[in-house]
Amino acid sequence: MVKASLGSVFAERILYVSLTMTDQGRRGPGCAWFVIPVKVGAVIQFENVGLRYGMGTEVLRDVSFQVPPRSFQFLTGPSGAGKTTLLRLLFMSLKPTRGLISVFGKDRARISPRELPLMRRRIGVVFQDFRLLDHLTTYENVALPLRVRGRDEASYRQDVIELLKWVGLGERMHVLPPVLSGGEKQRAAIARALIEQPDVLLADEPTGNVDPPLARRLLRLFMELNRLGTAVVIATHDLTLMDQVDARRMVLTGGRLDIYD
Ligand code: ADP
Repeated sequence: MVKASLGSVFAERILYVSLTMTDQGRRGPGCAWFVIPVKVGAVIQFENVGLRYGMGTEVLRDVSFQVPPRSFQFLTGPSGAGKTTLLRLLFMSLKPTRGLISVFGKDRARISPRELPLMRRRIGVVFQDFRLLDHLTTYENVALPLRVRGRDEASYRQDVIELLKWVGLGERMHVLPPVLSGGEKQRAAIARALIEQPDVLLADEPTGNVDPPLARRLLRLFMELNRLGTAVVIATHDLTLMDQVDARRMVLTGGRLDIYD
């Protein structure tokens, strides 16, 4: 049986992934739940991107940046500055009104509606409001993305259990979300975002509803994930959180982006 400590689980996985990696740099069949990206270019790139809703003024203006593979960055700025909008562009749930966005080397404007779900699987998102389904258990919520793809439960059951243990929900996997605390819901939402082994994880105010010790714990989880190869973008205005890591800060003010490496 696999022990639920980070160290042992990941040491095994790193070895396993490196032995089973396919030529696309993705996992081979039967491999457990995370990837070690081997790509060298930016996973996501913005060049002079602008976004306006309807006929309004531009919410984002001339935004240019890259999310390099295996990078860790905070996206910050005052409320209404456009953080959620930027995350939606990163997740491709919005199209820019001008400029160029390239996702995994592909021009966003040329990604067809058929390709979009496949590309999105490589981007995990933790939404501010968790978006857990209350009638499904924690385990079922986390497994849902795999279930809707028609995967056989036997092929992913162990991965889901290991992931739940990794986020500290090993004892809570059979309860329904209404019974979970805010912090537990947050961790379930993180687990669900990770189950498809994304190359990038986007988190919108992940510590917005939790106390400082749990916020530190969540941050450690994101850092551990990053250390294992996933690029992480955390939208937050929690200064205490940002002060704990010497990470790149992308600061939005009035729709413009400044980057502090
Ligand atoms: P933040 O996440 O930094 O608080 P948002 O991206 O949510 O900022 O919002 C940036 C601006 O865009 C705000 O002025 C907000 O009112 C506006 N906005 C956000 N979503 C919409 C929308 N769907 N339609 C029109 N305006 C929107």
